[in-house]
Amino acid sequence: MIASIVAIVICVLMILLLMFIGQRLSGEMRTVGIFVCICIGIYAGHQLYKGIIQKQLNLEQNKKCLERMEDIMAAIEKYNENSPKLMEKLDLGKLQKKNLLTKPITPTENDKFECVYSGQKLDTTEGKIVCTVHGDIDQVRLEIAKQE
Ligand SMILES: [Zn+2]
Repeated sequence: MIASIVAIVICVLMILLLMFIGQRLSGEMRTVGIFVCICIGIYAGHQLYKGIIQKQLNLEQNKKCLERMEDIMAAIEKYNENSPKLMEKLDLGKLQKKNLLTKPITPTENDKFECVYSGQKLDTTEGKIVCTVHGDIDQVRLEIAKQE
């Protein structure tokens, strides 16, 4: 959103600059001026484009991470229902063994980050699942809300 406003502002500025150059300068100077303007425009556009792509990638990664965390939490709940002892420390091996996870927790080749999950005191209200890259579930949710 902000990126597109910036892009529009830059476009308008470039057009104004080009108009100014066209009127004030003549001959070779005008050609050079227009050339420089176009170069700056392309550069700025490219930087903006990269920024937008980067943001989208981050958003996607955050969403994936959140999905995995929710999946892990649901799996722990199911595990606890059928186990005499509540899971206290995150044990993905146990969850996998019982087929409780619906999403793969190992990163795919499209993933930019390698999310690694841990969790302590899960049998208490203090317990949280934490991703080493993205933080706990509340942080990831906040990050997604900020990005959208
Ligand atoms: Zn993560």
